[in-house]
Amino acid sequence: MLEKSGESMHADTLAVHAGRNPTAHGGTVNVPVWRASTICFPDMASLQHARQNPDTEISYGIYGTPTVRALQDAVAQMEGGHRALVASSGLAAISAAILAFASPGDHILMVDSVYGPTRRLCDQGLSRLGISVTYYDPLESEPGGLIRPETKLIYAESPGSQTFEVQDIPALAAVARSAGIPLLLDNSWGTPYHFASFRHGVDISIHAATKYIAGHSDVMLGLVVANERWYPQLREHMVLHGMCASPDDCYLALRGLRTIGARLKQQSAAALHIAQWLQQQPQVASVLHPALPGFAGHALWKRDFTGAASLFAVELRTQSEAAVRAMVEGMSLFAIGASWGGFESLVFPAYPGPERALRPWTGGQLVRLHIGLEEPGDLVADLAAGLVRAQAHPDWATV
Ligand SMILES: *Cc1c(COP(=O)(O)O)cnc(C)c1O
Repeated sequence: MLEKSGESMHADTLAVHAGRNPTAHGGTVNVPVWRASTICFPDMASLQHARQNPDTEISYGIYGTPTVRALQDAVAQMEGGHRALVASSGLAAISAAILAFASPGDHILMVDSVYGPTRRLCDQGLSRLGISVTYYDPLESEPGGLIRPETKLIYAESPGSQTFEVQDIPALAAVARSAGIPLLLDNSWGTPYHFASFRHGVDISIHAATKYIAGHSDVMLGLVVANERWYPQLREHMVLHGMCASPDDCYLALRGLRTIGARLKQQSAAALHIAQWLQQQPQVASVLHPALPGFAGHALWKRDFTGAASLFAVELRTQSEAAVRAMVEGMSLFAIGASWGGFESLVFPAYPGPERALRPWTGGQLVRLHIGLEEPGDLVADLAAGLVRAQAHPDWATV
């Protein structure tokens, strides 16, 4: 029933109901953790049947147990895709998705504002395999001129890592479609809750489920969701290469997904409140947050997303890394730590500068903030003290 009406259902409802079968698993609300390598069969015919129906039957642990399938089904349904597959991390999901469509001698188009490790995968991993990469401007919606006969995919990430450029995904999808190649999107910030990738023309959506989907800073997990056209090629590659993930981690990610709406509503509202407060502070040059009306990508964000995540960056009126250290090292609530999407607030100095090929960052020092579920006033007080510490540093105005 849910399968048919999923398209019209609200994301809050889907987050609760997608991937659930109330009559299976002894009536438990959550699909239990099915741990398995071997699946035993009463006869060869049932084994054959399971192998011939790999998306609906289970035949061996690597292809997923009911726990893994439930997570895959829930995310695919929420995002409007055909099917999803898991990988052991977000980065593993990214490499699997790219390598499913690009082979030695091929070429791919990669957005310049991409997540740093994806960029290193391109520059060090793909180049070793003889796959060439052209970076395109995230603000360019028609990079069609960069497409060559051997171009096999366009890769997008919106908003971009650290600098939050919003991409025109439907325009990119049109370019990819006319070239007969898939558009891949890293939708970790958008999440299946705030960005319906497949309604905007994306062919392959990738999630660091480590972030908002799992949501509690205790799981490494990736997901790749595909539409019907490109799913078989993706699946073939991921099965060939033995991609899988632990049912325990999938269980935790699915439990996280059930509350993604409540968490994101509270965290997004707090993040916007804090971003607006930061805009008023004398130590702040700008705030990079797609939901702020003055931000460059605001109109596209408003057109395509149903909400904003609680991750953004603030540009300080200093070039001094030491002043930034003075700020981030003295926080009482914001912990210094990589990753984001958990229930707790994090602070991380961002250095997009040297990596960017097309739009090197030339502004002040950037600090990335992830806003958790704490009371926003408490977070503001922590940040206010941090800004004072930064400005009091002797290098604030001199470096
Ligand atoms: C963290 C992150 C990833 C990678 O996820 P991991 O699970 O940490 O490997 C991918 N894309 C973006 C945008 C990220 O921030």
